[in-house]
Amino acid sequence: RSESHAMDMTLRRIFGIETEYGISVTDADRDPDPGTVAMIMFRPIVAASRSTNTYTPNGSRLYVDVGSHPEYATAEARRPIDALRLDAAGESTMRSLAMQAQDLLREQYGPRTRIHVYKNNQDSAGHSFGCHENYLVRRDISLSLLGEQLIPFLVTRQLYTGAGTWSADGQFQLSQRADFLDDAISASTTRSRPMINTRDEPHADSDMYRRLHVILGDSNRSQIATWMKLTCTHLVLCILEYCTHHCLDTGLAGMALADPGKAIKTVSHDPHGTAVLDMADGSRKCALEIQNTYLRVADRFVRDHGDDIALNIADAPECLELWGKALDAVHFSDITELATWVDWAAKYRFVQSMQLRHPNLSVARIRQFDLDYHDVANGHIFDSLVSHAQMRTMLTESDVERARTTPPSDTRAALRGAFVTAANNAPGCTWSADWTHVSASVPGAKSREAEMLDPFDSQPSDDYKKVMELVSGAAD
Ligand code: ATP
Ligand code: MG
Ligand code: MG
Repeated sequence: RSESHAMDMTLRRIFGIETEYGISVTDADRDPDPGTVAMIMFRPIVAASRSTNTYTPNGSRLYVDVGSHPEYATAEARRPIDALRLDAAGESTMRSLAMQAQDLLREQYGPRTRIHVYKNNQDSAGHSFGCHENYLVRRDISLSLLGEQLIPFLVTRQLYTGAGTWSADGQFQLSQRADFLDDAISASTTRSRPMINTRDEPHADSDMYRRLHVILGDSNRSQIATWMKLTCTHLVLCILEYCTHHCLDTGLAGMALADPGKAIKTVSHDPHGTAVLDMADGSRKCALEIQNTYLRVADRFVRDHGDDIALNIADAPECLELWGKALDAVHFSDITELATWVDWAAKYRFVQSMQLRHPNLSVARIRQFDLDYHDVANGHIFDSLVSHAQMRTMLTESDVERARTTPPSDTRAALRGAFVTAANNAPGCTWSADWTHVSASVPGAKSREAEMLDPFDSQPSDDYKKVMELVSGAAD
């Protein structure tokens, strides 16, 4: 078995994160509706691309559907850290659009008008919106294996990936999404609300791959939480893929949950990770036990097969170490340790410190703090935690600014990004793109298009070169 063959069979991953943002306006003389605000935010986008659905120079997608939730979907990344960079670039893009919109809003709605753009998953009317993780996985791992051995991991990882929230009656829970989910796996996103969506649009070779669409997670503000969410999930997927391919036992068969929809809510309401969950085999386990099993299996897997899969898990030791620390901290209820990178704990600790100073803090005030933490436009709490070194980060501000215009160099996003940059600079050029195509036309010339079916391929095809010739000719 050649090395490249082995790597080809198991290792490669594409990561993408879609984040929907919530919008509101305060302190205005009269309130504009959020749909209007979203459209004002997107004015510069519409002016440049004649559409509310576009791609950015870093290869990501920026759009607003009907309604008022602008979305940023990161370009294809091979590594969690690259996906994190792009996601952070998305926050920064939303903030810029929001601040421009605020200036315009002030002309119409009064000088104190403030815009809020929430990277969270619930609005004040109780609607839920999503943060979708996309993982390219090998098609030979079956949906039933995902249901039995991936879902229990996803349901319990909230212990360190949950963003946390307080309900109107003051109840705290780890996850903003848990209460809104029922089925474990389903093809529909509208009738039932599944945790994994199997809609089959791999944007890649469909004989070989599926795009796993994980829709149960919270949006994270913590950079480390975003990175951990992707890296831990990636490791579990590696185990499932590798063991399926080599007909090995995963060691995770006992993890299947009797009722994932019920379990996700139980876990969400239990910051200690010790509430009992019914397992499919009739036994009972708590979230901490389940997570510790995944950690142990992942740790052994990296030791035994680390060389085979080294390419894509350079970060594994760091991830495993942090994972272990997080589970220990949950076990010892060490909020201070968790609060340095776990969103729910950071907010929880912040509220605790406020309660010390103001013993009669109202639930309404706590819920304002909650929202402020997620507000990428006018929020203070998150930035203040970062600047006081209470919240750790992985990226510098200049990393993030660079990521707004720089696609990953080792996926097709490199091609898309270069195309978008060139097309934006070509006067009179009309262009469009999606995950697998780019096309452009300029007045007086034949329009050109190119397909990019392999997400791992960053090399220009002949068609792509012709598109770029057309576009750069127009720029001269
Ligand atoms: P919806 O917004 O309705 O959920 P969607 O999930 O189909 O739609 P997009 O919002 O366009 O799609 O986002 C697609 C995400 O999938 C992006 O983050 C992108 O980087 C990622 N992606 C693209 N190609 C692949 C691939 N082959 N494998 C995994 N992820 C991919
Ligand atoms: Mg989307
Ligand atoms: Mg999606």
